[in-house]
Amino acid sequence: MAQLSDDCFAFGGPMMSVDEAVSIIATRVTAVQDIETVSLTAADGRILAKEISAPLPLPPFTNSAVDGYAVRSGDLAQVAEQEQERALPVAGRVQAGAATQGPVEPGHAVRIFTGAPMPQGADTVFMQEDVRLDQGRVVLPMGLKPGANVRMAGEDIPAGHSALAAGQRLRPQDVALAAAFGLTHVEVRRRIRVAVFSTGNELVSPGASRGAAQLFDSNRFMLMAMLVRLGCEVSDLGILRDDRVSLASALKSVAGTLDLILTTGGVSTGEEDHVKAAVESVGTLVLWRMAIKPGRPVAMGIIGGTPFIGLPGNPVASFVTFVHVVRPTVLALAGAAQQHLIPMPVRAAFTYKKKIARREYVRVNLRRCENGVLEAVKFPREGAGLLSSLVDTDGLVELGEEITLVEPGQTVGFLGYANLI
Ligand code: AMP
Ligand code: MG
Repeated sequence: MAQLSDDCFAFGGPMMSVDEAVSIIATRVTAVQDIETVSLTAADGRILAKEISAPLPLPPFTNSAVDGYAVRSGDLAQVAEQEQERALPVAGRVQAGAATQGPVEPGHAVRIFTGAPMPQGADTVFMQEDVRLDQGRVVLPMGLKPGANVRMAGEDIPAGHSALAAGQRLRPQDVALAAAFGLTHVEVRRRIRVAVFSTGNELVSPGASRGAAQLFDSNRFMLMAMLVRLGCEVSDLGILRDDRVSLASALKSVAGTLDLILTTGGVSTGEEDHVKAAVESVGTLVLWRMAIKPGRPVAMGIIGGTPFIGLPGNPVASFVTFVHVVRPTVLALAGAAQQHLIPMPVRAAFTYKKKIARREYVRVNLRRCENGVLEAVKFPREGAGLLSSLVDTDGLVELGEEITLVEPGQTVGFLGYANLI
């Protein structure tokens, strides 16, 4: 278990910016230490525990980048200005995977194929498309740069080079690199374990019978899906009623058995919001009044050393605060390098007024204009309870704290949903 101190999430100010939240999390949350060894086929999405240095150069040997003819470039030194081509006898043939052959004789060319080792002495390859054959000789045009079409040993990655950093969240291309080094397994941090509750008397689980004033719990399934995408092992702890005592005992019973407790709902400051009081009775809690819309507030706590995050109940607020608070916490607990979200510049096709000193997220669809420019079209409605506004859009336009007005044609930053988790 990653044991965190009770004041881990302490914060003095009245409002918290998104950047402050991310930096508090990144600096104060410590990673789980357990390491496991997994095969490459199970490595995608896992967090690399130790740096991997290249045990061999890539490519491991100098080879041809094309199908063609390998020569010694010195043989092609131009003697006469008007000389347009040079014919060399073809002596030898080397395929991919062939054992290295003897040196190419001066004044000769060797037939060679992509990926085949360069014969000793040869340093340049003519593409087969650029030559013609004439009675056992290959006719080469002049002017090809020495070294052309050759991949030098180590030109991709030299031996000993730090190739994958500890904390890397492995992607398919990272797994490919480990395989290229001949590794069969990698050492990764264990998956972090997260318990998820929903809170609210109005909620029932899908499949249960729904009373007239009840709705099916959707947040829990959204949050669990997001956590799984982040590589967590998720425990589904169902729905808790709006009751301080039962909330407190449920929280206490899971604290210490896993790495993070995540709840949704019940953290506003209404009298039926019991999560805050429940956490306070079994641990410590601070309300982060986040300068974010949709969003605030988010309850941050420690129960028996285990971090607790209480997200708002409105689905869109829950989604957005997950991205800015839960995601960095999960990455920190999992030992992953923080992955900063980098918005892509697009053109706004809407007018939007906002409060200064608050980060706002606008749900948008992208469309490509005639001139190829990408335009963000705002979803017509803004309610934080509208699930359709997340389902029917491509992502979020991020409007920084300093912005008060967006007008059509202005450049804004877009974050696609796929990049958020
Ligand atoms: P709360 O944060 O508990 O005040 O909830 C705010 C709004 O979000 C209310 O309309 C709730 O019904 C709704 N809500 C809370 N939890 C969920 C959930 N798990 N799934 C869907 N809607 C929810
Ligand atoms: Mg509630």
